[in-house]
Parts: sequence; structure tokens; C-alpha cells
Amino acid sequence: MNVTIFNENIHERTEKGVAEIFPNGIHGCLAQLLESAGHTVTCATLEMPEHGLTEQVVNGTDVMLWWGHMGHHLVSDAVVDRVVSRVMEYGMGMIFLHSAHKSKPFARIVGTSGNLLWGDDQKEIVWTVMPSHPIAKDIPEHFVLDKEEMYGEPFMIPQPDELVFTSWFRHGNVFRSGCAFYRGLGKVFYLQPGHEYCRSYYNENIRKIILNAVEWAKPGTGISRYPSVCPYFGEKLD
Ligand code: ZN
Repeated sequence: MNVTIFNENIHERTEKGVAEIFPNGIHGCLAQLLESAGHTVTCATLEMPEHGLTEQVVNGTDVMLWWGHMGHHLVSDAVVDRVVSRVMEYGMGMIFLHSAHKSKPFARIVGTSGNLLWGDDQKEIVWTVMPSHPIAKDIPEHFVLDKEEMYGEPFMIPQPDELVFTSWFRHGNVFRSGCAFYRGLGKVFYLQPGHEYCRSYYNENIRKIILNAVEWAKPGTGISRYPSVCPYFGEKLD
């Protein structure tokens, strides 16, 4: 599968503590994981022309991962339009990671602000609340992340079409940490762990969840492209 990782790549370049955890950027860490599973990976970062998300790259992507935080407002609206329409009209899969809950394409795709409560780094227990879901394949009933940034309810999203994971945090907050949405022809997943100062992207279960999510989100066959010829009357379609 062709997988594109968008990462704004700001923290890794400006904060030593983050660069130590992700010497090749968050995108580099995720790229290694996806390549090891046999995917062809393209990395795109904010400072690249068109943020690395040119028409050619987006049109050639089966599933896109999105990590952003400080630079949400710097992402060009033309690129957001391109990404969103690829999800809606062509079924490109989309996986929003951690602070991408406030990214422009997330808000456009789910239709709400994505606001939430947040707090300090603490112990998190991720509970698999829909074990039959393909994204939960081989994930235990629950697992612990020793340190992750607290995200809490209320999470300003529409009711997810499928809620796969729910998390508990040491200070008592709960959060819908793995949410699946169907939008247009596309499948969309939001996964909460992945704060830049935490090591969740090295956690075995989180890595499995990301690989499962990519597999689940791949475009369907048959309905995932507009036909170029009308199936009833044979005329050419734009
Ligand atoms: Zn964070």
C-alpha cells in the first residue's frame, strides 16, 4: 500500500528532548514501522513546498497519517481541500494521530471543533471496547502506557461510527482514544496516544494498532473511484 505520513516536524527541530526520542522525527519513527510491514512510505512535512502534499502525492496515496500540533494554522487551505476531497470522493484512508484532533482536515472531515480537556503526562490504561473491530486485532483487553499526555472528555466530536478504544488516566479522566468514522467513500480513524515527549510510538500495542488501522482504512474496491464511463448509457463522465 502507498502510505503518506504528514508530520509538521516542528518539535523535533526545536526541542532537544523531543529530538532525543525521535531522532528522525515522528514521521521517521512511523515510516520505519510501516516500511517494516511492507508499505511504500512517503514522508511530508510542513516546511516542504505544498507541505509535501502535492496533487501527485495525494492522488497516489492509499492511506494518510497526520500528526500536527503547533502548526495547524500554517497548513494551507488548498492542501486541506485536496486531502479532504481525496478522502470523501476517492476513499483515501485517513488516520489522525494525537494532537491532530485540532488539525484543519480533522475538523473538516468530522464536522466539529475537536476540542477536549488536556493535562499533564500520566499513566494511561487503554481499554479495547470493541474487540471484534479489525483495528483491535491482536490487541489485549487492556494495556498500560506508563506516561502519556492526558486527554479527557468531553471530546467535541460527533458520536464515532465505531468506538474501538477508551482510555483511563491516573488522575481519573476518561477519553474516547480510538474512534472510527466513515465519511464519504473514506474511512477515518483517530488515535489519541502519541505526545511528542512520550514514547507511545515505540509501544508494541500502539504500533500494532497503527498497522491495523492502515490495513482497515485502505480504499475499497469497486466504489472507491468514480467511473470514467457511465455504466448505464456509456457516455464519458468528467
Ligand atoms: Zn501532545
